[in-house]
Amino acid sequence: MKLENALKNFHPKSPIFSDSASCTSPDCLTGMDIMAAMGMTESQAKFGMTAFLAKNDVSEEDKFSTVEALTQYAKKITPKLVAKAAGKKLGYCLIVLAKMAFEDYARSAGSIFSCSACNGKGLIYSHKDVIKHPGITKLDGTVVIEPWIENEKVEELCISCNGKGQIAHRCRCKGRGKVLDEAQTKLQGAPVYKDCLRCAGKGFNRVPSSVVYNAIKHLVPDLTQSSWSRNWKPFYEKLVSKGYIEEFEAEKLFLKKIS
Ligand SMILES: [Zn+2]
Ligand SMILES: [Zn+2]
Repeated sequence: MKLENALKNFHPKSPIFSDSASCTSPDCLTGMDIMAAMGMTESQAKFGMTAFLAKNDVSEEDKFSTVEALTQYAKKITPKLVAKAAGKKLGYCLIVLAKMAFEDYARSAGSIFSCSACNGKGLIYSHKDVIKHPGITKLDGTVVIEPWIENEKVEELCISCNGKGQIAHRCRCKGRGKVLDEAQTKLQGAPVYKDCLRCAGKGFNRVPSSVVYNAIKHLVPDLTQSSWSRNWKPFYEKLVSKGYIEEFEAEKLFLKKIS
């Protein structure tokens, strides 16, 4: 059993496993077995297990701890040129990088994020002139009743999230990472699939590097695009990979405990 399947027995809000009563075979795993294995994994591969749980939206606390662990890791491996360029702002920069690296890593679970355009409200508030009454004007142009217009606070549906307040980062290939190869399908007369070009077969959209660059540039105004690409970006990519590496370690350990 993989960690991901273990999680399917797991109710995110309350840590209770549903014990399936239909399973009578002696080597059938019970919810208690799975919970024990997850507990042992967590005690021995805390970083990876927390990252995995955070990615799957189990708790806010896990997200906080994962970002914290990534920040600590970032401190250990900060390249000299990055530290020099950031100067006094280094601490902030590392937190921003760790937060964004976590988001990038977490997208692979198809997780849902609060929309930043509307702060998760789904609505955007603004002041607009609202026509209460168009007024009455005679055909010759004389005004009988002036139009009644008032400047009011209005709510509009957020375009970024279409009013949902949340954004999923699953790719348009529905997270499969594969799309139908129409030319080959026609040729061979049977459905042929190829890697989705939009997400390079990953199934989800990554945080664009330009977004991370702009966030850091906000803190370090002197940062140039070339210095970003040469020194900062590879460092950031290491933080993203760290999430996957630790999760992989936890997964391996979990498999050992469960079998
Ligand atoms: Zn929104
Ligand atoms: Zn795709």
